[in-house]
Amino acid sequence: AELYGIKDWGNGYFHISDTGEVTISAPVNGKTVSVNLMDVIKGIEDRGMTMPVLLRIENLLDSQITRLNESFRSNIKKFAYQGSYKGVFPIKVNQQQQVIEEVTRFGERYNHGLEAGSKAELISALGMIKNTETLLICNGYKDEEFIDLGLNAIKMGYQCFFVIEMPGELDLIIKRSKALDVKPLLGVRLKLSSQAGGHWTESGGDRSIFGLNTTQIIEVIDELKKQEMLDCLKLVHYHLGSQIPNIRDIRRAITEACRYYTDIYREGAPLEHLDLGGGLAVDYDGSQTNYVHSRNYTLDEYTADIIEVVMATLDEHKIPHPVLTTESGRSVVAYYSILLFNILDTTRFDTHALPETLPEDSHELIQNLFDVRNVMKIRNIQESCNDAVYYRDEIRQLFRHGQINLRDLSLAESIFLKILKDVSLLMKKIKRIPPDLEGLDNALSDIYYGNFSVFQSLPDAWAIDQIFPIMPIHRLNEKPSRECILADITCDCDGKIDRFTDIHDEKKTLSVHELLQNEEYFMGAFLVGAYQETLGDLHNLLGDTNVVSIRIKEEGEFDIVRELEGDSIADVLSYVEYDPRQLQELFRQKAEEAVRTGKITAKDRRRIVDSYEESLRGYTYFER
Ligand code: PLP
Repeated sequence: AELYGIKDWGNGYFHISDTGEVTISAPVNGKTVSVNLMDVIKGIEDRGMTMPVLLRIENLLDSQITRLNESFRSNIKKFAYQGSYKGVFPIKVNQQQQVIEEVTRFGERYNHGLEAGSKAELISALGMIKNTETLLICNGYKDEEFIDLGLNAIKMGYQCFFVIEMPGELDLIIKRSKALDVKPLLGVRLKLSSQAGGHWTESGGDRSIFGLNTTQIIEVIDELKKQEMLDCLKLVHYHLGSQIPNIRDIRRAITEACRYYTDIYREGAPLEHLDLGGGLAVDYDGSQTNYVHSRNYTLDEYTADIIEVVMATLDEHKIPHPVLTTESGRSVVAYYSILLFNILDTTRFDTHALPETLPEDSHELIQNLFDVRNVMKIRNIQESCNDAVYYRDEIRQLFRHGQINLRDLSLAESIFLKILKDVSLLMKKIKRIPPDLEGLDNALSDIYYGNFSVFQSLPDAWAIDQIFPIMPIHRLNEKPSRECILADITCDCDGKIDRFTDIHDEKKTLSVHELLQNEEYFMGAFLVGAYQETLGDLHNLLGDTNVVSIRIKEEGEFDIVRELEGDSIADVLSYVEYDPRQLQELFRQKAEEAVRTGKITAKDRRRIVDSYEESLRGYTYFER
């Protein structure tokens, strides 16, 4: 169990039971209640749904919203901060209706609002938002229609802020607010000079494509003064980037933002809100370091640092403490979803038993390769390996030129593999591994084929080498005996996962169990609730997976509160402009033709056409 670091990245939500299965633990009415993930899978299968399934656990979303808000609350109290915290959830992080519905439902008691970055997101937010106490923050480029939607919301009593990202937006906002006779709520997005380390942090810094520079901020203030509208400027916003691993970068950015806040306030803007954007990171590898997939701070340290820095800077100038907002997305939804999938097959790089001696007439190079094994020792391990690679390459050359046959080549490949295995065993006895031999174990690891698509379900694993915790979810009291990389069922060589969580270093292989006859082997990719769902694509026409949502109950049971069937083959074909009915017709004509030419009987035709039609209605993933 320690092998997978579940305690390190699980945030208290995932554990391993005495029987060796992953359990989900969630707070329910003040008690921690656990359910076994294998029971959940059984419940899903009993309902006739097949793998892969994206499992959402409502309680974890609720818990993350609660933890964030309670952490701010308790630090606000501890430091006697005079303002409050009102968070917003950025819709882009997971736009699915069910997710936004649950975010607003669980967020209501904290007045947790929404952030919209486009017209479509604003339309969604206006439908889903629960009350007029929560904030609705509009980022992104805004046209007249976008602005009118927001102004109408203000008219209806909602606190809908326009964050000015581009100087040009202001004229249009002023024009439309005059036309509709509504006083807008305005914010400015700062382009901070602070930049953070990490994967997604291009949003900060001088070269950021978003936000206003100092000259543009002054222009906005002057224009608002001219229009006698400076009293509308109530908010200052910045976004340093997502997944900021280092708390020092976070502190530096707040300090800089507070300097802007102070001076904009002194210019006469009645500022009341400081919106620090996203960036609160998720510890995907559990290392608690400033490595890109981790974070070197806790939630409480994050909220305390924000409050401390804001107080220290603003108190000096006697500026009232603002309402603090964060647009935390990743940390709110990441834990909520798990991708569950089964393993379909494996490939092993195993050696066949080699003969004691080679036949007399074996080619000299094959003989040389065979002899490498006899002279190999720890002392010459690197040299032996180099020799083996040399002979193997020469032998392949012989085959290409027709000088040896397929059986000879197969024997040579087996000898070569055996040498690598011996090298790998010898390497376990030495402390310092020669640089050229690093990665050898990866080359020898198995391939486990998972019933999922990296491109559809874990796009960041492919696009930006994001690491997600992945592990088997049962048989965890058995010692895993194999090392593998994972391949998906797209036939794309990028459709694989070969980087895994490890708190010491990145792991290139995953420890797994041997597959058993007639028994499924289930795995989970954890912490996939943020960004993955809508970034996914239809590579190889593998569509959306089935989605199942559960709620864990006080008695230790769970309800399946929602089931959403994944895309059918007809669905994905229609996304790429096919008309499934027309396809059906074209196929029927082909079957008719086959009957006419005597290739199949009329009875065959019925069966073949039916099976085509059934497949059109079926799931895009592998079905047993
Ligand atoms: N706010 C803005 C403006 C963003 O662009 C993003 C995403 O990058 C976020 C908030 C969400 O950030 P995170 O998921 O790190 O909380």
